[in-house]
Amino acid sequence: MINEKPRVRFAPSPTGYLHVGGLRTALYNYLFAKHNNGEFILRIEDTDRNRYVEGAVENLIKALEWCGLEYDEGPGKREQFGPYLQSERLSLYDKYAKELIEKGHAYYCFCTHERLDALKKEQQQQKLPQAKYDKHCLHLSKEEVEEKLASGMPKVVRLNVVPDQKVAFDDVVRGRVEFDTHNIDDQVLIKSDGYPTYHLANVVDDHLMKITHVIRGEEWLSSTPKHILLYDFFGWEKSVFAHLPLLLNPDRSKLSKRQGDVAVEDYRVKGYLKDALVNFVALLGWNAGDDKEFYYLNELIDSFSLERVNKSGAVFDLEKLNWLNAEHLRKKPDAELLALLKDEIQNSTDVSTEIKEQSYSDEYLIKIIDGMKERVSFIHEYITKSPYFFVAPAEYEEAAKQKGWKPETPEQIKKLRDAFSALNNPVKEDYENALKQTAADLNIGVGKLIHPLRLATSGMSTGPGVYDILVIIGKEEVIKRIDTALVKLG
Ligand code: GLU
Repeated sequence: MINEKPRVRFAPSPTGYLHVGGLRTALYNYLFAKHNNGEFILRIEDTDRNRYVEGAVENLIKALEWCGLEYDEGPGKREQFGPYLQSERLSLYDKYAKELIEKGHAYYCFCTHERLDALKKEQQQQKLPQAKYDKHCLHLSKEEVEEKLASGMPKVVRLNVVPDQKVAFDDVVRGRVEFDTHNIDDQVLIKSDGYPTYHLANVVDDHLMKITHVIRGEEWLSSTPKHILLYDFFGWEKSVFAHLPLLLNPDRSKLSKRQGDVAVEDYRVKGYLKDALVNFVALLGWNAGDDKEFYYLNELIDSFSLERVNKSGAVFDLEKLNWLNAEHLRKKPDAELLALLKDEIQNSTDVSTEIKEQSYSDEYLIKIIDGMKERVSFIHEYITKSPYFFVAPAEYEEAAKQKGWKPETPEQIKKLRDAFSALNNPVKEDYENALKQTAADLNIGVGKLIHPLRLATSGMSTGPGVYDILVIIGKEEVIKRIDTALVKLG
């Protein structure tokens, strides 16, 4: 199996959205496949009808697509295949369950809920570490089973676990893992609604889909011995297993919704770039053995190996994600930033209608991008950090007003306004020279003009160089804003 082209799968259950942990699993599978010229399969494990959520499959597919993790195979024609859906493969699981029954590795169980509840209570009273089915129905005679089946009684199919044996496997990440079958329950394989449980469907599909490596979260480690038993009972060759470390909050508790966003979609909506999110998630449990942290997807494909996945939990550090977002944003070519900024203006609900209704030329937006590039970590910050490029300030920052707008300012700033008026197509230096000259004429320091000028044109006390602001908004607008400030600030 090892020398074959690897075939891996991401096998989420459609519970509503793509969790960042799910993205990490999908990504590692994808990277492993692509690094080794293998195939990446998407299989939706939707056999638990109680947990079925409307629209969840579509959400999953959309989120994976957004991240750029394309899958290679599915049922139907190449041009139009979707993912494999287990709910469309029910007859297969049924067939394999029957095979196990015939071989004596599984059996029908007709126990009622009442009996199972009573058994559980009894075992709890006896302080047994874990409630387990007592194999009651394993001892029914063939005739009894047939009679019950014919009567249409509710039934499940259970795995016939032989107690007190060792189940062991070598996990690529965790090394040798051993379990005692004493701790394994006679797992239900087919439920009373006729649907298979995760364990049966998962193993049957991994076998039929020729999955060479099972790469999944650590939370599935305890299921693996049941899967190993199934492989052995069927006489099938096993996949290689790699269980990925848990994702942790900064306080090292398990990553949870309570401490922040966990859905990929939440990060998209908040303005994170897919390149940054994918880069960040790749580092949750893996590194190339050096201190490189900035990666594009193709670089991750080149560098990834399962052997370099860590065993210990990976802390989800939002600061690092923010840093990566800023880095990825900064490295984008202007044309791409322009497209992202235009999309933000048009489609973000956080952008005011006043801004949406204006039309900014590409040339103008590119100037803003150049001026702000080093100062933003998110696309939306082009607007939130420098709203004055989009609309004239309606208000002025109070602290900056106190500091920069003195009783003598109006007279001085009027002179500056006149000096600016006289300029013809000014560039940065022209503004600068005019300001210096005005300050010299008035016999004051340049700061006495720069601070009120910044306040009048931007309404704020921080931002890019004041001359950059002037050049971007243009002379006419500069004069207009100075005039407005003179009226509003006196
Ligand atoms: N359906 C499981 C999930 O929701 C798949 C686990 C596995 O990859 O085997 O994650």
